[in-house]
Amino acid sequence: MRNLFSASIWLFIPLLMSAMASAEGIAGLEQPILILQLHLQHIFIGSSLILSLMCFAWAKALRSYSMAILALFFTIKSLGILVAGGISLLALFTHSIHLLNAEGVLLSNLSNMLFFIFTVKLFTLKKREKNSYQLLLRLAIIMMFTVPLSFVFSHSYTWLLTQIPISMSLLALLYVSKTIKVDDEALSKIFSLIIIVQLSFNTIAYLLYYLSFSTQAINCLDMLSFWVMAIMVTYLMGHRYYCHLRDEKLAQQQATASAQASNLAQQELSALQDESQEQLESRVQERTLELNIALQELEAVNQELKEKNTLDELSGLYNRRYYDQKILAEFRRSRRNLTPLSLILVDIDHFKNVNDSFGHLVGDKCIVEVASMIKSLLRRSSDVGCRYGGEEFCLILPETDEKGALALAEEICQSIRQKNIYNNEKIIRLTVSCGVTTYQQEKDVTPEIIFECVDKALYKAKQAGRDQVQVMPIKMLKS
Ligand code: GH3
Ligand code: MG
Ligand code: MG
Repeated sequence: MRNLFSASIWLFIPLLMSAMASAEGIAGLEQPILILQLHLQHIFIGSSLILSLMCFAWAKALRSYSMAILALFFTIKSLGILVAGGISLLALFTHSIHLLNAEGVLLSNLSNMLFFIFTVKLFTLKKREKNSYQLLLRLAIIMMFTVPLSFVFSHSYTWLLTQIPISMSLLALLYVSKTIKVDDEALSKIFSLIIIVQLSFNTIAYLLYYLSFSTQAINCLDMLSFWVMAIMVTYLMGHRYYCHLRDEKLAQQQATASAQASNLAQQELSALQDESQEQLESRVQERTLELNIALQELEAVNQELKEKNTLDELSGLYNRRYYDQKILAEFRRSRRNLTPLSLILVDIDHFKNVNDSFGHLVGDKCIVEVASMIKSLLRRSSDVGCRYGGEEFCLILPETDEKGALALAEEICQSIRQKNIYNNEKIIRLTVSCGVTTYQQEKDVTPEIIFECVDKALYKAKQAGRDQVQVMPIKMLKS
């Protein structure tokens, strides 16, 4: 609607002018128009030069290819208008007389093609609108063929040869602007308006030509049309640059916002990681503590088991199983270190009588009393007291010679002899017999042989009347 309105204004003003001209008579206007055209041409040369230079500077500053094309378009278009207004390029190329016919058509078509390129770049037609691009391309090729026609036709038709391609170009560009689908609607609207305004000027130019206005008058209209177009296209480019800056700023803001968001997410993630790390560490610590406790409990149970395995429950001394392990270990140590190893075998005398007289429980009590007495007399930490079985006790004495073992056995005999064991205010007196033997690296001796020897010594003590100590050297057993 706005387009139509503006188009009608642009149509209306020149029509009014032409109406006025026909009312006053065309002939009467020729002289003032000639003067007006001269002045306008001077202004036009300066203004178009400034415009072109500004556009080139703008193109360089923005590194914009389409702006450079536009600057070139303005230059060629203004040259074309100047040529149409009577200024010939022959002044520059004096030897090319044929240029006189062709220069107008050549410059006009060239400017049309440049405007095509500008349009293609502005709307990226090559990618987006293949049909429109093809249309402009074909039109450009057709326009190239109109240049040789300017040599064929007489000079009076040159104006038409420039105007018809311009009209075709404008119609094609109007079609392009109407069919193009762009994100920025305002851009296509402004572009359409430019084309409509140019078409209006074009139509008026035809009208003036038809009404036999002078070429100077038509040239004035061309210059006017050029200025209007220059203002509008500059506005279009300004709008485009503004949109570009706005989009860039928006994109920058979005990039900053997303960078902040990702930063925040990163922080949250690392906080979560720290938290889970802490949780993991505390769980590991907790678990380690639990495991340590379980391990300690297991160790305690193991210790208990071991003790149960090695200790005799009644007497509290080591049991027979432990004796078997210990004697072997001590025998090997003695052989390796060349140290003596003594054994004492203790047996309670006439124990059957105790059981018979006082009962098994009292008998057990007596066994406990004798065991605790033996335990108290074993002063070295390396000495080991074992309950060998029944009321027999076997003492392993590492690094103890025969003399030392004998002394200990005597002490045991004497201590038991002197001990009073109470049972319901009755005193039970016990005696023990002891066998002693000492291993001193004799050849072909085993722990079994040492025990056999000490057993023999005990037997000897029993035989000799009990309550005494008897020694049996190993070599005597072997002989
Ligand atoms: P000897 O002087 O020859 O050694 O005479 P003794 O009566 O001690 O004879 P012997 O060694 O053959 O008998 C040991 C007795 O000890 C046999 C058994 O009834 C008793 N006895 C063995 N073990 C235990 C025990 O754990 N508790 C009790 N109360 N008696 C036991
Ligand atoms: Mg016995
Ligand atoms: Mg006995």
